[in-house]
Parts: sequence; structure tokens; C-alpha cells
Amino acid sequence: ERAAALAGGVEPGALADGTAIPLLANLGSAEGAEAAVAAGAEGVGLFRTEFLFLDQRMAPTVEQQREQYTKLLSAFGGGRKVVVRVLDAGADKPLEFLNDAHEDNPALGLRGLRSLRANEDILREQLTALAEADAQTDADLWVMAPMVSTVEETRYFTELGREYGLKTVGVMVEVPSAALLADRVLRVADFASIGTNDLTQYTLAADRLLGSVAGFQSPWHPAVLRLIGEVGAAGAAQGKPVGICGEAAADPLLAVVLAGLGATTLSMSPAALADVRLSLKRYTLGQARSLAETALAADGAAEAREAVRAAADRFT
Ligand code: PEP
Ligand code: MG
Repeated sequence: ERAAALAGGVEPGALADGTAIPLLANLGSAEGAEAAVAAGAEGVGLFRTEFLFLDQRMAPTVEQQREQYTKLLSAFGGGRKVVVRVLDAGADKPLEFLNDAHEDNPALGLRGLRSLRANEDILREQLTALAEADAQTDADLWVMAPMVSTVEETRYFTELGREYGLKTVGVMVEVPSAALLADRVLRVADFASIGTNDLTQYTLAADRLLGSVAGFQSPWHPAVLRLIGEVGAAGAAQGKPVGICGEAAADPLLAVVLAGLGATTLSMSPAALADVRLSLKRYTLGQARSLAETALAADGAAEAREAVRAAADRFT
């Protein structure tokens, strides 16, 4: 039944033993929705709402936002899942009306949920627009906050989301503190979505925009994978979904490792969907877990990738 919902007869994401790993799209605008469906996206795992706000001197109105969210949700009617992230401003995406341009370390500053909380009217308008679009469409809307680092922030955001009638409210896990306390974060949130780009940056203490430290920016690093495993285990223990929406999910071999660490969905740019779908099909859940153990046992990113590649070749 799931298969019938996909465009062009594409099969839904699954491991060789049939374990479903829905494959979702990362999108930056409602305009990209049709192409994502055509590429076999089963839904949206990360809708970056920044595009609505970037290059604007003022926040877009509730009406302008509602129009865009309605367009997005309409493309995934029939109860398909769409995870929308509230505005992630600051650091690499500063906004004139939200961020202080004079922070010395903007990646460690008032970004993501921190800046929305300091400008709660903007967050409330965004939640209003999302709730209105939700009421007008029949996609399965999930809403999440970026750059959450504490249980208290998780509580703040989920309570606010519920105030607006949003049914499924979660957080991104992209700061090590949130990953380490994933069991407590997931007691509060309905789901977690791991942002491996920032999680890698913050775990290795290496600016994701700085070429001179780009060598540190690999989600294959066992320190990053161990944190992801913590979140996966917490999700499994509590029956809460744990998605991955960073670039790591687009690496076909790493995608298998992520499934082995407990990821329940993978979200990526639509161009990566086909290769990841093929790769998942080659391994059972047991094999994926074994590959995850192999990666976790390595000393570094390159060693992890090499060891997993060798072990995977023995499975196929
Ligand atoms: C991430 O950090 O992995 C992520 C998905 O969010 P962004 O790349 O937009 O910061
Ligand atoms: Mg991020």
C-alpha cells in the first residue's frame, strides 16, 4: 500500500529484511515539492523555512507564510509526513531583524530557537501560519525547532507548539548536550531529528564554514556516531521516531550505519534518494547494526569508513 503512494512505481525505503526506513526530502522552498515527489520522496523530513525570511528587512506576514506552507503541505496530501523546521536564523544564516551582527562566535550565539525565543512574536506568527495551513490541508504536519540544547528549551517549544494545536512537535538534535540527554529530551518531545552537519561541527569543535578545519567535518567520526547511537537508543526505548536530516543521510553507506544506530527515517536532498534507497536494500537490520558496531569501534572518521566498507563487502 505504501509502495502505491510513490511516484513512478518507486519502492519505499526499506532494508533487505523489510524493515521500513522511509526516505524523505530536504527542501528549501515549496517550489521544490513536485520534484521531490517525482524523485520518490515519501514525504519531507526537513523544510527549511529560512528562505522565506532571508534577504528580508522584516519578517514575512502570517498570510505570506500561510500561503507557502499551504502550497508545501498540499503537495504531500493523503496524510504524507512533512516536517517543518521553524526559522533557523543566526550563525551562517544571520537576519537583520533577529541577529546581532557583532557576536564574536555566532555559531555559539543567539541562533535557532534561542533567537526565536528572544523574539517570541516572530515564532508565534510562524506557528500561527503553520497551524492555519495544517487546518486547510491533509498532510501529516510535524513541526520542530533548530539548535535546541537543553530539556528546558524542549519543554518550552513543545508546550508552545501544542498551544497552537500542532499535533506533533519535536526538536532537532544537533548540539551534543541534546544528544547526551536524548532520553530526557524525548520524554518531552514527540520526535527528534538529528542534524548531522551541526552535530559534527559542535562535537569536533570545527566551524562548518571554515575550509582550514574542513578535515574535521565528517559525520563518519565515531564520536558523532556514538552520539547518534545515544539518540537512536533513547528513541527505541520510548517508541519515539528519530530521523536524520543532515548531509550524512545522503551518503549511501553511512545511511546503512545510521539505520543500524536506530534512525527510523532518513531525509536528504532529492537527488540522493535513489542511491540511498538501493544501498539500504542490500543489508538486513542485523547487518546494519553490525556495520554500526564496526564504525563505532574505529578511532577516526577515515578508519570508520574504511572498516565499514570492508565489512559491507563481505555481506554482499
Ligand atoms: C544540520 O545541521 O545538519 C541541519 C540539517 O541543519 P542545517 O544544515 O540547516 O543547519
Ligand atoms: Mg543545523
